[in-house]
Amino acid sequence: MRRAVFVTGTDTEIGKTVISAAIIQALKKTGVTCGVLKPVQCGGNDAKILREIASIKDLPNIINPYSFNKPLSPHLAAKLEKKNIKEDVIYQNYQILKDKYQFIVVEGAGGLLVPLKESFLMADLIKRLDLGVIIVARIGLGTINHSLLTIEIAKKYGIEIVGIIFNQCQEGDLDICQKDNPLIISKLGKVKSLGIIPYYATLNKKNGYKELTNERLLEEIAAKIDLQYILKEERIEQREERNKFLKEADRNIVWHPFTQMKDYKKQEPLIIEEGKGCYLKDIDGSWYLDGISSLWVNVHGHRKEEIDNALKQQIDRISHSTLLGFGNIPSIELAKKLIEIVPSGLSNVFYSDSGSTAVEIALKIAFQYWQHKNKKKKTKFVNFVNAYHGDTIGSVSVGGIDLFHKIFAPFLFNTFKVKAPYCYRCHLNLTYPACQLKCLQELEDILAKHHEEIAALIVEPTVQGAAGMLVQPEGYLKNIRILTKKYQVLLIADEVATGFGRTGKMFACEWEGVSPDVLCLAKSITAGYLPLAATITSEEIFEAFLGEYKEQKTFFHGHTYTGNPLACIAALANLEIFKREEVLERLKDKIKFLSEELENFNFLNQVGEIRQKGFMVGIELVKDKKLKIAYEWEERAGIRVCNAARKRGVILRPLGNVVVIIPPLSITKEELRSLLNMTYLSIKEELV
Ligand SMILES: *Cc1c(COP(=O)(O)O)cnc(C)c1O
Repeated sequence: MRRAVFVTGTDTEIGKTVISAAIIQALKKTGVTCGVLKPVQCGGNDAKILREIASIKDLPNIINPYSFNKPLSPHLAAKLEKKNIKEDVIYQNYQILKDKYQFIVVEGAGGLLVPLKESFLMADLIKRLDLGVIIVARIGLGTINHSLLTIEIAKKYGIEIVGIIFNQCQEGDLDICQKDNPLIISKLGKVKSLGIIPYYATLNKKNGYKELTNERLLEEIAAKIDLQYILKEERIEQREERNKFLKEADRNIVWHPFTQMKDYKKQEPLIIEEGKGCYLKDIDGSWYLDGISSLWVNVHGHRKEEIDNALKQQIDRISHSTLLGFGNIPSIELAKKLIEIVPSGLSNVFYSDSGSTAVEIALKIAFQYWQHKNKKKKTKFVNFVNAYHGDTIGSVSVGGIDLFHKIFAPFLFNTFKVKAPYCYRCHLNLTYPACQLKCLQELEDILAKHHEEIAALIVEPTVQGAAGMLVQPEGYLKNIRILTKKYQVLLIADEVATGFGRTGKMFACEWEGVSPDVLCLAKSITAGYLPLAATITSEEIFEAFLGEYKEQKTFFHGHTYTGNPLACIAALANLEIFKREEVLERLKDKIKFLSEELENFNFLNQVGEIRQKGFMVGIELVKDKKLKIAYEWEERAGIRVCNAARKRGVILRPLGNVVVIIPPLSITKEELRSLLNMTYLSIKEELV
């Protein structure tokens, strides 16, 4: 049986409340317990009436969380009363009612495109609640267009239309148009007509719907509605079957990255079906706050309209053509835009598809560069312990996370490995700033001794992400630039994680006024839409590859989908939004808010250190706060906390004992507060 329905109208004042009341009354009669939800009310007292008819005792603010005096669009009515409509609250109330009643009637306000707030429409709420809709339409002249438009919009949003009910709002016999309307609308809209409600003089606005609680009258109306059809829910059965198949196949056929599949098979997989803003919906219809930006990539929220539209338009032109010897428009425009925003001195863009390939390319370019410069001995690389630069063989060679890389040791080329700063557990037992960055000495020693064999140094500027959000002390990056210049070693900045606003500036290098020789970008470059990467070099490097064909100075490297027009157009739309919405400017306040809220975590004995650089946060869990004793990895402290968070409707993914929080830059303060609150409670629940 269907468990709930959303009653919407093609317009306002069309009889939604009458229909809702009739359905409730009829269900009550058949012994089905029926709850009501009126998420938003602007003028009137529909919620009170519905509550009375349903004879339920729930608190009025559960049934009707938002009530405004003026009969205006909710976004405006709320604004006038200086209130904020929170879809979270509505969602939570709905869950409470759903647990309690066999059936819920949710009554909308106005139609599907009515805004609850800017960029959140009634249709978005219906999606959030995962409901099918009954459309109430007027039966008279002009209803065809209104009804079909509503049906179109429901379809566009992927909202299930249960059917349409026609309400006669004017006195008199049905004329030819009124008789034909239901037929033509259900035919053209391919929706079922669920009933035609005749005119009732007592049920009009003028007398304040006096008779709306008249049970006999409601039953008379309900008798004209196809209730059996409304209750029948084929979708649920089909969906259960589909979900069973999906979960089976996900466990047994899909091989998930960085995942022990034996464990994965044992647990209930979380399979995402949709997203909107900072939320993700799974195939069972539950919504989760995306606390890690879908693994550090999403920037402006899911289904950001401008990016969606840019992609759709590009699809209508072309989805892919090759960059091997040919150009395409988005890749050119994007290259130009990237050069405008990256640190100065960088001038040429080499595209690929992932962070790993961006790094792989950077390494090969650095290597080949010195060959062309006739410094043939400069073939080695310097990298940092705990660094993460991707999973292909070259990028693993310059990586330093043993857990990921140990097994491949025989495959990897040797590098000079330098200890990176991890101030909370300083390997020199010093404290910043008194230490005066003594940890740089080891790097200088290696550069001084071996610079003639060293092609480049690779670093994650300001934050070592995968290492556990290790934030470098101020001045560290700047000094690396000074040292690499001094010893004629190229500096490769891997901003795959830090790029595009994550640290609070467009690129992390800006914090220390550093221009690298090579910059690697990926993850957020397309705002989390499509795989794309860019390796950006200085002109000096680019020119070293120019020569006569026979000199073979060509960079012989390229991936088939390099410069894909769809990915590039998404990246262009991403940059456009950064500019138009002044994302970085508006982020400042949110970063401050985040820091303040994070302070609370200090009260937890299981939190050793809170590290933050902009919107990149790592909370290091410890067994003993005083002695900084780490949890054994078998204790799976991070995983347990993240699993607990999932039950609370938040998606997190840890790095060992570090709980990572990297929300989309578009997250609101309210959502941030809720994200942190759930994380806090999850740590408390699992570890305290
Ligand atoms: C994620 C990441 C990579 C690898 O990117 P992929 O797209 O996963 O290949 C490289 N470097 C850094 C710093 C990263 O965070």
